[in-house]
Amino acid sequence: MHIETEAIRTQMERTQYSEHSAPVYLTSSYVFEDAEEMRASFSEEKERNIYSRFSNPNTSEFVEKVAKMEGAEAGYAFATGMSAVFSTLAALLNSGDHIVSARSVFGSTHSLLTKYFPKWNITHSYFNVNEPERIEDFIKPETKVIFAESPTNPGVDILDLERLGKIAKKHKLLLIIDNCFATPYLQNPIKYGADLVIHSATKLIDGQGRVLGGVTVGSSELIREIYFFSRNTGPALSPFNAWILSKSLETLPVRLEKHCENALKVAEFLENSEKAKQVKYPFLKSHPQYEIAKKQMKLGGNVVSFEIKGGLEAGRKFIDKVQLCSRSANLGDTRTIVTHPASTTHSKLKEEEQLEAGITPGLIRVSVGLEHVEDIINDLEQALKV
Ligand SMILES: *Cc1c(COP(=O)(O)O)cnc(C)c1O
Repeated sequence: MHIETEAIRTQMERTQYSEHSAPVYLTSSYVFEDAEEMRASFSEEKERNIYSRFSNPNTSEFVEKVAKMEGAEAGYAFATGMSAVFSTLAALLNSGDHIVSARSVFGSTHSLLTKYFPKWNITHSYFNVNEPERIEDFIKPETKVIFAESPTNPGVDILDLERLGKIAKKHKLLLIIDNCFATPYLQNPIKYGADLVIHSATKLIDGQGRVLGGVTVGSSELIREIYFFSRNTGPALSPFNAWILSKSLETLPVRLEKHCENALKVAEFLENSEKAKQVKYPFLKSHPQYEIAKKQMKLGGNVVSFEIKGGLEAGRKFIDKVQLCSRSANLGDTRTIVTHPASTTHSKLKEEEQLEAGITPGLIRVSVGLEHVEDIINDLEQALKV
């Protein structure tokens, strides 16, 4: 069936009350008929709920839905996007293993790779997203994983998933894609050879700025490893958040259509503005990887980045001047959000580290929401005026 239908009609079995919409199961544990059923459940002969750190009807429904939408066999849901990234890598890697990752990754993923994994002797090499032809130079005998996001945060660069899939296959590496910016509606990395797809469900999957969540989907074999690691270490998604997120997925396709339509108009407005330069949006013809974006994405997503003329000071002034748009570090909300990474999310980095991560002093990221696009553009226009 079509992805819109899967998003709505993937639903747990109805109870004796014949409810139309799935209820929330706030229960930490489950009961058994007898000793034999308990034995069979614990020995995995029988698949059923035992304890909500392992599984729960709401988390299972959410996971099944994301897996269907991504074209994956199985998945596991996490309390946050970061617990999904951490647990996925930690479950599959051993001391001595090496990760090849794009340099442009989410800030906390960068901290995992540079600060925490080295404690367990798991190392990494970064490649530049604008030099994909050099990726293979970083592969060593101990490399196990290629990790990347596309589009990237906050630079909105695009990586060629088909190219990554081929490299991973040739060198027998796991390809893990953080698909947060694209969502399962716009892009399905498994089609291009990804082994695992990770989402922070906190962003566009919730889409309304309410709850945190994460999910990893892929082959049953890999998910089994991740499941047992997580069942013992405890990063499970709460049933209540799973219920919210599964409901949110029902409207993901229609929300994304509008987010992307608004974002393209905002990008076109900025491209024609004298106050903005280097406007980046995957579906603008001027985007350096426009052709690749068109090939692998249904639409361009909801994030637009640009460089404000006047650098750091102009960036701070712009943030102060917006009236409708929210000043926040989040993204993927119904409300349009503007961020100035150099003075906020990436302010702890030294200037050369910022530049290496693609953060220029005047870089502005706009997460385009669902307000009327004329109101969004009017607000940006008045904030850009000096
Ligand atoms: C937000 C984000 C994460 C982390 O998700 P949380 O739910 O905040 O833990 C990971 N990757 C990307 C690309 C993100 O934008």
